[in-house]
Amino acid sequence: MRDLLVQVADAAASYLEGLDARGVAPGAEALERLSELNVPLPEEPASAEAVLETLDRVGSPATVATAGGRFFGFVLGGCLPAALAANWLAGAWDQCAGLFVATPIATTLEEVSLRWLLDVLRLPSECGGAFVTGATMANFTALAAARHAVLEQAGWDVEAEGLMGAPPLAVVVSEDAHPSVIKALGLLGLGRQRAIRVPVDDQGRMRVDAFPSLRGPAIVCIQAGNVNSGAFDPAAEICAVAHQSGAWVHIDGAFGLWAAASPGRAHLVAGAAEADSWATDAHKWLNVPYDSGLAFVRNARHLNRAMSLAAAYLPQGEHREPSQYVPELSRRARGVEIWAALRSLGRAGLADLIERTCRHAQRFAEGLSAAGYEILNEVVLNQVLVAFGDAATTRRVVERIQRDGVCWCGETTWRGRVAMRISVSSWATTGEDVERSLRSMLEAANAAGLKPRAG
Ligand SMILES: *Cc1c(COP(=O)(O)O)cnc(C)c1O
Repeated sequence: MRDLLVQVADAAASYLEGLDARGVAPGAEALERLSELNVPLPEEPASAEAVLETLDRVGSPATVATAGGRFFGFVLGGCLPAALAANWLAGAWDQCAGLFVATPIATTLEEVSLRWLLDVLRLPSECGGAFVTGATMANFTALAAARHAVLEQAGWDVEAEGLMGAPPLAVVVSEDAHPSVIKALGLLGLGRQRAIRVPVDDQGRMRVDAFPSLRGPAIVCIQAGNVNSGAFDPAAEICAVAHQSGAWVHIDGAFGLWAAASPGRAHLVAGAAEADSWATDAHKWLNVPYDSGLAFVRNARHLNRAMSLAAAYLPQGEHREPSQYVPELSRRARGVEIWAALRSLGRAGLADLIERTCRHAQRFAEGLSAAGYEILNEVVLNQVLVAFGDAATTRRVVERIQRDGVCWCGETTWRGRVAMRISVSSWATTGEDVERSLRSMLEAANAAGLKPRAG
C-alpha cells in the first residue's frame, strides 16, 4: 500500500508541475490515445501499480489543465494544496459521512466548517447547513426546505402528502436564473415552466420595478453572481418586498456569495443575509476538489424536516447527524477539505483569494479594452465578457485561443451578442498567467484579421 500511495503522490506532483509547460486543452494525440481504454473488461486482475500506471500515462495527458493557472472557462476554480492533500487523507480514512457514530471526525469537521462558513459569508449564525455535491444540489436542498416551510405555513405537510392536492405555490425567478435553479424546481415537482420570470436589466439583475405582487405561499429565487456578468440581484430590496407578503427568499450564490468574504467586495452582497436560504459552491471559489456544494437555511428545522429520515438501525444521538440535513444517507466527507481550505487560508487568505482573482479579471478587462475590444459587462467581480467584433469573428477568436492552448476561455451569448467569457476563479492564477493569457488573446484576435478600433 505504501509504495503505491507514494508512487501516486509522485505522479500527481509531476502532473501538477508539468501543467505550466503544456497546453491547457489536451492535444489531439492525447485524445486519440483514449481509445486504448476502450477494451472489454479483462478477465484477470491487474496490479494496482499497473492500473495507476495506465491512468497516469493515458489519463493525465487527456485532462484539461483546470488545476493550472490559465483555465478561465465556465466558473471552475482550482484546488488548494491543503484541500488536495486533505482529500487524499480523507480518501484513506474512507469515512461514511452520514452519521456521527460512523465518523466523529467528519461530523465534527462539518460542524466547525459550517460555523466558519456562516461567519465568512456573513450569514446568520443559527443557519442549518448541508454539505452536498454542488450548487445544483444545494439549490435543490434549500428549495426543498423552502417548499416545506411555505406549505407548512399554509397548513400542508408536503413531505407526508406530496404535492397532489396541495395549496397553490407561486415561484418567482429572474429571466437570468441559472438553469440549475430551474432544474431544481422541476425535481421538486414545482415545474420547470410554471415559475413567474421577472425581467432583468442590462447587467442581468432582477428588476425590482417589475417584481410581481404575491399572495399566499410563494418562493422567490434570486442570485448573487450572474453566471455571465457576475452581477448581483438587489437582495435587500427584493427581500423587503418578498417578505412583506410572507414569501421565502432563496439566493443562488454559487460563486457570488463568496464576495462577502472580501471586505472590498462585500458591498455587492448587501442584504443577502436577509434571505431565508442560500446555495453556494465550495468547488468553485473556495478551490476544494469536486464535488462540493453548500446549502444554508436560516431556520434549520425546515431543512431538517425536508431531509430527515428514520430507521431503527440509524442512531440519533445528541450530535448533528449530517444525513438529517442532506438528500443522501451515505456520502463522502466533504467537510474535511472545506475545513482544510478554510484553515489553510484563514480569514485573510480567503479575502485575498477573492480580491486577487477579481483584480485579475479587472486586468483582463483593461488589457482587452485598451487594445480596442468591447467589454460587454460591468466587471464588478471575477467575470469578464468580451466581444471581438461580430458573432462569427468572436467565435473564430475563441476557437483560436482554445487551440493555441496558452489559456482556455469559453463562449457565451450576452444580451444577444456572442461573447467570450473569462472567469478567474483559481488560487493558482498568477499575474504572469494573466499577462501571458492576455498576449495570447490579443494574438488570436490579430490573427483573426481584426483591426482593433482606435481607443
Ligand atoms: C455553477 C453554478 C451553478 C451550478 O453549480 P454546480 O456546482 O455546477 O452544480 C448554479 N448557479 C450558478 C450561479 C452557478 O454559477
